[in-house]
Amino acid sequence: MQIIIITIKIMKNSTRSFSTKSFSSYSSSSSPSLRWSEELIRYCEHPEVFSTKEVYHFDNEFVIIFDKYPKAKKHFLVMPRKRIDSIENLKKGDLGMMQKLKEKGQWVIDSMKEENPKLNFRMGFHAFPSMKQFHMHVISQDFISSALKNKKHWNSFTTPFFKDYEKIENILKEKGEIKFDKIYYEALLKKPLNCHLCNKKDIKNIPTLKKHLGDHWNDDSSEKSE
Ligand code: AMP
Ligand code: ZN
Repeated sequence: MQIIIITIKIMKNSTRSFSTKSFSSYSSSSSPSLRWSEELIRYCEHPEVFSTKEVYHFDNEFVIIFDKYPKAKKHFLVMPRKRIDSIENLKKGDLGMMQKLKEKGQWVIDSMKEENPKLNFRMGFHAFPSMKQFHMHVISQDFISSALKNKKHWNSFTTPFFKDYEKIENILKEKGEIKFDKIYYEALLKKPLNCHLCNKKDIKNIPTLKKHLGDHWNDDSSEKSE
């Protein structure tokens, strides 16, 4: 039992320690002047140059970073280091990678829930991501964060614009590709502010929504199990 506990502790403390392989085999052109929409690529090319405040964990195949503009108390991005631009570049051959991506995401969720069992999580993808390099969001469902600033932020995580991992895996298995209707999904981002936890609809504005979310967080009856 003690050995198991020590092993878990070592794993936790060494989340950044086991990448030794050169990244050159995964790397594209390592341009010094990446556009903002390409900034995630750098984490995948050279996770070792980032601080522990930016990169939570990496190994030869995956990187887990803290989202720079977290939209909730806990918000991570889990990425394969192999270059895949976006969700729409996924192929059936990526299903093995996807399975491991899910395991990484679940591993983060388990660690976070151990710290604070009150947190609930979803892991999934934006139907139309804004940043290059395929990434999976692991995000707590409190949505309490100063970086959550507008309707687009809110709707991108609380409407069907956000696709749970299983949904994407199933589509990939069945159809071999991920294709969504851009017009439909862009319209979702403009929808009124509706609470994802209760039936409250048409919340007046972001400050009112934030107050409402704070009440949910402080109200134990709103807790849902994982
Ligand atoms: P998506 O809409 O799925 O492309 O989301 C991209 C995510 O990347 C957002 O949640 C941003 O807050 C986050 N983000 C943007 N720039 C950076 C950065 N330089 N480092 C880490 N996360 C970032
Ligand atoms: Zn509510």
